[in-house]
Amino acid sequence: MGTPGVHVLDADFFRRWLVAAAAAVDREADRLTELDSAIGDADHGRNLQRGFAAVTAAVGKEPPATPGAVLMLAGRQLISTVGGASGPLYGTLLRRTGKALGDDGDVTAAQLGDALRAGVAAVAQLGGAAAGDKTMLDALEPAVAALGETTDSFAVARAAAEQGALATVPMQARKGRASYLGERSIGHQDPGATSSALLIAALAETVEAAR
Ligand code: ADP
Ligand code: MG
Repeated sequence: MGTPGVHVLDADFFRRWLVAAAAAVDREADRLTELDSAIGDADHGRNLQRGFAAVTAAVGKEPPATPGAVLMLAGRQLISTVGGASGPLYGTLLRRTGKALGDDGDVTAAQLGDALRAGVAAVAQLGGAAAGDKTMLDALEPAVAALGETTDSFAVARAAAEQGALATVPMQARKGRASYLGERSIGHQDPGATSSALLIAALAETVEAAR
């Protein structure tokens, strides 16, 4: 797919990312639910499995022609099929990222980085959370901050997201259901930060596979 590090990303790349994300969610669903049973209501794995099954069905049936349209369709599916807080938040992430990509048929790594930063900002605005609140933002913010001009930066973003998810363990939750537990939320990894790291890992793997 061209010179490593500078290749462009087309609609099919985004479809493959979402399919890889759905597979990761399926593989890790029990772990996500287990994490959510410690500090939430034990539905995070099932919520995302349902949502990403709808995403893969939708983008597989009639794949949209542009990266932006793929992500906006996927975001709509998450919003309409995921019951929990994570549905509107992940749906907003994908829709806002897709909107920022506009109508281009191919996008660069730099464009995707900027678009994902806009998507993550929209998640922060919708949920009223910030890094340190023990949410998905603790994985997403360091990940998108690591994205640069080339696709090489996706591997760095993946490591940052995984570190960010681990860093939620000693945090006390200040947003979402886990915040009801107060200090008892300390000592557990946040389920949403964990699933966010899976989505960023799937993105890095899709980039790697395209080289
Ligand atoms: P619910 O909490 O409604 O059962 P899920 O279990 O699917 O929804 O998702 C829980 C995850 O959603 C949390 O682990 C956290 O990462 C994320 N989350 C919850 N509230 C917020 C928020 N206000 N901002 C960002 N992320 C949030
Ligand atoms: Mg839950």
